[in-house]
Amino acid sequence: MRAVNTPLKGFLILMILCLATIVSKAQQAKIGQTEITKWQDGKNGALSITYDDGSINQFKYALPIMERLKLPATFFVITGGIPESKYHGKFIGRSVKTIIKESATIPTNEHNFLERCSAGGYLGYKGTISYVTKAASLYDEAKTREEGIKVMDELYRKVRNGEFQPGYQPCDEVLQEDGLTWEDLKNYGGRGYEIASHSITHASMPGLDSVNIQYELEKSKEEIRDKMGARYTFSAEVPYGYENERVMKIAYKIYPALRNRMPEPWLKEIDRASKQTPGSTNKDYIQWQRGATTKTPLSLMQSWVDTAVAKNNIWLVLVIHGVDNLGYEALQHTMLDEYFQYIKVNQKELWIATFGDVTRYMREREHSKVEHEKKDDKILITLTQSLDKIMYDLPLTLKTYVPADWKKAWVWQGKRMQRVDAAKDEKGSYVLYQAYPNGIALSLSGKEN
Ligand SMILES: [Zn+2]
Repeated sequence: MRAVNTPLKGFLILMILCLATIVSKAQQAKIGQTEITKWQDGKNGALSITYDDGSINQFKYALPIMERLKLPATFFVITGGIPESKYHGKFIGRSVKTIIKESATIPTNEHNFLERCSAGGYLGYKGTISYVTKAASLYDEAKTREEGIKVMDELYRKVRNGEFQPGYQPCDEVLQEDGLTWEDLKNYGGRGYEIASHSITHASMPGLDSVNIQYELEKSKEEIRDKMGARYTFSAEVPYGYENERVMKIAYKIYPALRNRMPEPWLKEIDRASKQTPGSTNKDYIQWQRGATTKTPLSLMQSWVDTAVAKNNIWLVLVIHGVDNLGYEALQHTMLDEYFQYIKVNQKELWIATFGDVTRYMREREHSKVEHEKKDDKILITLTQSLDKIMYDLPLTLKTYVPADWKKAWVWQGKRMQRVDAAKDEKGSYVLYQAYPNGIALSLSGKEN
């Protein structure tokens, strides 16, 4: 084979080098170019551990595991059953005696169902709540609405016939909270756990009229605010996971974040009853709720975590009810220990945070604007957001491309300073740092002064 002559060879090499430089320049980010990372600390996904019903075993057996592993969580508690609570379950409306009397001559119908159902737990007898829960659930679906109405008729007939013992009996969920105090909850809140509302009595809200829904949600919020502080009135879960339109409309006026449903246009939701797995979407985020039952194998629960790590747009929201034989679908704490350790191992890839904090982060990111400017050897950044600045005060993670010779960056925002290491990706050298979206400009420098 004849060799290519030397001058031509040199020319060809030069051409290839030039082309390579042009191509790599095209992929390079401009110095100062900044984005808000999808998740805190530039992680691949988010995970929130949430507990419903405030059963005492959640705090006795699951919380110490999370404490050991330093995992945050959200507890949706039923406020009315906690000792020293000011607000308890009650019916707001006409006298129940009148309603009972009326039911003897006027059958339950579309017009009086909500009133009868709202009053159902407060007729002065034990054992009536289960009828209310059942009727509300049937009434929530158009195709079983008539059945729900029949259940209400049955309840009032039995009350008129004296088939119940006098008194008041709360839901089983309220009884499972026995032993929980506000003092404990304040303590957990101080340790970084999110305490949030699950109504006053674990009411079946699709069966309640507007006034009684409002009472259950508003007064529960007031109770939490008075006992714990406004920080804990951000999130709520309407009991039984209902997504009823009428209820959601009222609830959203009271709580900024509901685990039941989030109406953001940039969020796809897969609720815990859905068989769907998070596939492709044109939305920025997917909230994927999963609730393990006693029959769910640990390997399946671990695979949810794997899926969240593998994609970049999943917020895995785990829903836990009972623990150690107390509560709905009670999971054993030994299994939870193993599962939480698995989650902990994946913390490098997953941002583990409370339900409220992940909601805050996504909303702030969707409503923020970031701009950069080069000044001498510094990079100046402004981050502004259009949301309420008191409610939405979580720092966002920014990723800024910096000159290749910066090994570290000194990031100042007001009096706050962070020193961060530079890293490299295909577009160049960059730094990740926290920025408060409060309008105070940030300054990045490659040296200390
Ligand atoms: Zn519940």
